Amino acid sequence: MAIIDGKLISLQIQDEIALEVNAIKEKGGKVPHLAAVIVGNDGASETYVGAKVKACDKIGFKSTLVKLEENTTEQELLHIVEGLNKDADIDGYIVQLPLPKHINEQKIVEAIDPKKDVDGFHPQNVGRMALNLPAYLPATPYGIMQLLERYKIDTAGKNCVVIGRSHIVGSPMSILMARNTVPGNCTVTMCHSRTKNLKEFTLNADIVIVALGKPEFVTADMLKDGVVVIDVGITRVPSDQTKSGFKLLGDVKYDEVAAKASYITPVPGGVGPMTIASLLMNTLKASKKEIYL
Ligand code: NAD
Repeated sequence: MAIIDGKLISLQIQDEIALEVNAIKEKGGKVPHLAAVIVGNDGASETYVGAKVKACDKIGFKSTLVKLEENTTEQELLHIVEGLNKDADIDGYIVQLPLPKHINEQKIVEAIDPKKDVDGFHPQNVGRMALNLPAYLPATPYGIMQLLERYKIDTAGKNCVVIGRSHIVGSPMSILMARNTVPGNCTVTMCHSRTKNLKEFTLNADIVIVALGKPEFVTADMLKDGVVVIDVGITRVPSDQTKSGFKLLGDVKYDEVAAKASYITPVPGGVGPMTIASLLMNTLKASKKEIYL
């Protein structure tokens, strides 16, 4: 069994991007510039956005944080988005979700210029991804594709089961794994809350990608020997074994599943750290105009 080390790969990618940024600077080129918009004071969102901005600074990108009050109106946010669309210095930007309830998230996502949509949530990018055209891929699925690629995991012709159909993980993951690409080219089955006899599907899978948010849901008896397991789930559960009083659990019962798997992502340290690397890769692509010519 081999552990897929997302922390290591994420740092490798960040080092690679930092080298490229240095080369751009030496040639007097334009430094990639990411902006992040956050509305309100949600603690988790502030942590995520803070980490993204910090990662930009570390690798030499320019970053701009736009922090707005909780009571910002939809109209005011649309105005900010319009300004970011027009700002020639900003290559890409994200609007951190979730937004306060009085703001229509879909309206905001659709107002973002697809050319600057480095989160890959705009319908134009989702459509381009489905058509196998150049697109900004959403961070978590893009990160998983990087892990499969960098660990040289053979995917062509394999049976892949994706558990979960959210717009940010399960659904794009099933599209990416089915595309005629490397990695990809799998026979994909997407399972969800209404799937009957889930075990029948998972027992037939060479690759299982789990994103449902139920700690230790997938157990060893559901899987065959040598399976590749990508565990996306992260749930905070109380623990008397840690100083903080909680620990993070994935959607997979790690110890027993690891004993059966050929490759597995741990939680934490597997898929999670890849999210930031993906965002930085998308921003670099935006600054190089690689997706939309
Ligand atoms: P979600 O709640 O939007 O979707 C969960 C999906 O699981 C749904 O599509 C549902 O149909 C499916 N599901 C629920 N019960 C099921 C069952 N019994 N059998 C089969 N399918 C079932 O979740 P999400 O946003 O995709 O997140 C899933 C998990 O991944 C969460 O723990 C989340 O915290 C984590 N996550 C991690 C990262 C990361 O960077 N590692 C990123 C995004 C999400």
